[in-house]
Amino acid sequence: MSFKIQYLQDLMDTVVKRNANEPEFHQAVREVLESLEPVLEKHPEYIQKGVLARLVEPDRIIKFRVPWVDDNGVVQVNRGFRIQFNKAIGPYKGGLRFHPSVYEGIIMFLGFEQIFKNSLTGLPIGGGKGGSDFDPKGKSEGEVMRFCQSFMTELSKHIAADTDVPAGDIGVGGREIGYLYGQYSRLRNEFSGVLTGKGLTYGGSLARTEATGFGLCYFTQEMLEDHGSSFEGKTVAISGSGNVAIYACQKATELGAKVVTMSDSNGYIYDKNGVDLAYVKQLKEVERKRIKEYLVKHPEAEYHEGCKGVWTVKCDIALPCATQNEIDLESAKALVANGVYAVCEGANMPSTIEATQYFQSNGVLFGPAKAANAGGVATSALEMSQNSMRYSWTFEEVDHKLHTIMINIYKNAAKAAKDYGMEGNLVAGANIAGFLKVADAMLAEGVV
Ligand code: NDP
Repeated sequence: MSFKIQYLQDLMDTVVKRNANEPEFHQAVREVLESLEPVLEKHPEYIQKGVLARLVEPDRIIKFRVPWVDDNGVVQVNRGFRIQFNKAIGPYKGGLRFHPSVYEGIIMFLGFEQIFKNSLTGLPIGGGKGGSDFDPKGKSEGEVMRFCQSFMTELSKHIAADTDVPAGDIGVGGREIGYLYGQYSRLRNEFSGVLTGKGLTYGGSLARTEATGFGLCYFTQEMLEDHGSSFEGKTVAISGSGNVAIYACQKATELGAKVVTMSDSNGYIYDKNGVDLAYVKQLKEVERKRIKEYLVKHPEAEYHEGCKGVWTVKCDIALPCATQNEIDLESAKALVANGVYAVCEGANMPSTIEATQYFQSNGVLFGPAKAANAGGVATSALEMSQNSMRYSWTFEEVDHKLHTIMINIYKNAAKAAKDYGMEGNLVAGANIAGFLKVADAMLAEGVV
């Protein structure tokens, strides 16, 4: 699809040329630029002052070698990244992803999305993202620790509590954050809020672990209520079985739904009686086993190889919580044919552009990742606030703030869509609402 405004087409062409072989980044930029067309028609100053041209180019890309020694004494070398995208409204903020699929294009797409997501939270945080092609799966505790220490030895030169505050993402959970934090604290000889997702004994926030999954359900609930519906009595399909998936499953169940699927990169389980979440937590958070093992305790459930099949299960609400582009057009068609009513994205960019358009043109309520999964980073920002105050809020206090933030994100995205003549289109609404705050800050701060 081409743009109505020639400037946007030229900008998109530049992005593709300058970042060749980074299709995920192109996809993320295209989606945002398309949404912004009506804004730019009303406000050409954003073009004249180069706001868009500056937004698609990160402040800096940091790329480094991560050498470490495995348990056999063999030297291993991975590649590390931190992309500091935009700090017009606050310090760079965004997670670290450790997964073999990580390369510059993945971090570029995630960092770009993070700018708008962080703006939507209403909190003062800029956009950044980082990671490595290191795979924590199958590594010993010692190997994971040595890798994290080596990664942080380089990263520590570029981050600080008021500059750039990383967090977790795929492959980076509480264990990895602990090792990363320990090394940072040792190198700098300071105790500061430089990472979020920390353990509760050393500056972490209550409810941060639950925040992305809970926030996703609060957002979905608000969207459903706005259309006279709710989670009560609904069947929900969830993909993934990591941090986001587990706590989305918990909250959806608490809100009266029955979650019937979970998956990992090998396959998915279908339990028509509703997923036994306590057992999934034991398998995934404690024993670090595959989702297939669910059948050991629940032989009545089904396991199917291949994660894509999860979208062929009949459900009212789909919550993709695994990874980017996990719902393609074929999966979107299967969901719609099975009568799906709402799709809300827990993972980052889990639906392809074609899948998103198919949902929207078939009347499916669609909550885009930038808005729907912003609860994680919002609670990370609350962790930063608590660290600055040297104080801790209770679980209920943090959860209440998270709930309020998610309701506001829904309302702001819905309002922005309506204001620009695209009522009900939350993809456009989230992009516009997120963009306006950052763009106005950039205008105020001059050409930097
Ligand atoms: P975890 O590492 O805890 O879990 C990821 C889950 O997704 C695992 O079940 C994993 O299976 C599965 N998965 C990962 N890669 C693939 C793949 N290529 N194909 C199929 N399944 C895959 O990560 P999170 O739960 O933290 O993150 C999940 C998504 O949510 C990501 O898109 C992330 O960017 C996004 N997100 C996370 C936030 C957070 O606070 N954690 C905040 C906002 C967004 P396996 O174990 O087999 O790899």
